[in-house]
Amino acid sequence: MTTLLIDNIGELVTNDGGGDLLGLRTKAAVLVDRDRIAWVGPSVHAPAGDRRIDVDGAAVLPGFVDSHAHLVFAGDRAAEFAARMAGEPYTGGGIRTTVGATRSASDDQLRLATGRLVDEARRQGTTTIEIKSGYGLTVEDEARSLRIAREFTEETTLLGAHVVPAEHADNPWRYVSMVCGPMLAAARPYAKWMDVFCERGAFDEDQARTILTAGRDAGLGLRVHGNQLGPGPGVQLAVELGAASVDHCTHLSDADVDALASNVTVATLLPGAEFSTRSPYPDARRLLDAGITVALATDCNPGSSYTSSMPFCIALAVREMRMTPAEAVRAATAGGAEALRRDDVGVVRAGARADLIVLDAPTHLHLAYRPGVPLIRHVMHDGVLR
Ligand SMILES: [Zn+2]
Repeated sequence: MTTLLIDNIGELVTNDGGGDLLGLRTKAAVLVDRDRIAWVGPSVHAPAGDRRIDVDGAAVLPGFVDSHAHLVFAGDRAAEFAARMAGEPYTGGGIRTTVGATRSASDDQLRLATGRLVDEARRQGTTTIEIKSGYGLTVEDEARSLRIAREFTEETTLLGAHVVPAEHADNPWRYVSMVCGPMLAAARPYAKWMDVFCERGAFDEDQARTILTAGRDAGLGLRVHGNQLGPGPGVQLAVELGAASVDHCTHLSDADVDALASNVTVATLLPGAEFSTRSPYPDARRLLDAGITVALATDCNPGSSYTSSMPFCIALAVREMRMTPAEAVRAATAGGAEALRRDDVGVVRAGARADLIVLDAPTHLHLAYRPGVPLIRHVMHDGVLR
């Protein structure tokens, strides 16, 4: 018993050719063979599977690809959120609060907390998730965060350069040297990516370039937090160094948009952060109209965006950033895959991973049309349906 036919699909989002952005097919079926998709086509031509499920006209999509999440941490910052909603500005300084709690937590506590968030994301349709370190900020605590993250995903990112920890505040370059030297060496076995928070109050352009170059030299792919709180060098640096993605992109110059338009670096938008910090949203239309590949991700973290919900981010993207539902769904699936340089997820085609969502709705439009409603009926991950 190795194959499963998912039949009677009302609308199938494939992200694979066809005349529209989502490669939509109607009256479709998908044959899954263990952890891979074996066949995609019209129901009437579907091969017999060892088993068959009838989804009764529901919409089926590739599983969401959340390419930006900070899930290894202890504690929460609900009081900081309440203060911000009462009028205090967001500065990013609260990260140090979570660093203290994370350093004090045991491995098992961190593993349990991370697993709970991964499971929460899965129930909302996320089948690929990137997980960053960044709340340890010592050699040992960053390596342990990534070791734990690796238990849940292969998309793991060293974000030792999240902020300069308090004990290095008098000499940030000493901390940069530590990130590039012993921290990178200790984290390397568990990390696929290197990231840096390139922002006023975190790491400046020279520091960010030093950190990213060290990561690249160690064989890691690159990602950048850039242009979130104000204009800055993050986008240009990401493009210059060939980063897979630059994330946030809230404050962009014309030169930033031009640089993204003529390079392969994906612009990842994280509207949960603007929602949770009551900040202006990025100008998604400007990016899309320039032909730039846009990804949507949650930025799930205890400070500035404590949501693991990709459907919520899709609804925000449509309502607040003027993306069409099709653009938002594409960004949350194929866009995220491109931001992680993956061609085996975010797509429904023969040979891709069997990561699928069955909606409790007839079309993908409902993800934005019915915000806040649990529309995920089934999630298939690695060919296992639940
Ligand atoms: Zn982030």
